[in-house]
Amino acid sequence: ASALSRAESLIGSIPDYPEPGVMFRDITPLLADAEALRVTIEALLEPFAGRFDVVAGIEARGFLLAGAAAVAAGVGLVPIRKAGKLPRPAASVSYALEYGTAEIEMHDDIADGTRVLLLDDVLATGGTLEAGRALVARLGGEVTGTAVLLEIDALGGRHVLGGDVHSIFHV
Ligand code: 5GP
Repeated sequence: ASALSRAESLIGSIPDYPEPGVMFRDITPLLADAEALRVTIEALLEPFAGRFDVVAGIEARGFLLAGAAAVAAGVGLVPIRKAGKLPRPAASVSYALEYGTAEIEMHDDIADGTRVLLLDDVLATGGTLEAGRALVARLGGEVTGTAVLLEIDALGGRHVLGGDVHSIFHV
């Protein structure tokens, strides 16, 4: 098998986590494997070479990919955090979850026109990445790419993102 299919085989499926009826996709075994992590980061970046100035990762598991991707691509990293965690003035966007709402924030000091590659670990309904895009746009940045390690096809997040997302693996 190729290095990427080997990496895919390291993603676990945990039934009834974090609550009954949910099948949680666990990327930690992939992250723990040096070769799998390396080829996955390369595959995440591959379509976007030369087309972004920073990587933005979404808390919390998006951070794990964004740090590695930023160093691999030779660019800086901007965190998109859950509300109330950033120390300086930030913009925020709220979005709907299945039950209730969530809010994410980003420091408001990115330069106008900064080209942003937006990363997260898993695309489910698409609400999180859609909110991340809105946040970057509100701050004057330009999202030139959106990428995830794993897309859960049946939840339809791709359509929420207008079909414009690069997913390495699918379930
Ligand atoms: P969405 O907003 O697309 O419905 O959900 C995506 C967010 O929820 C991502 O930030 C992701 O980390 C998290 N998420 C949803 N389902 C899973 C899952 O099965 N595994 C992991 N690792 N994260 C998930």
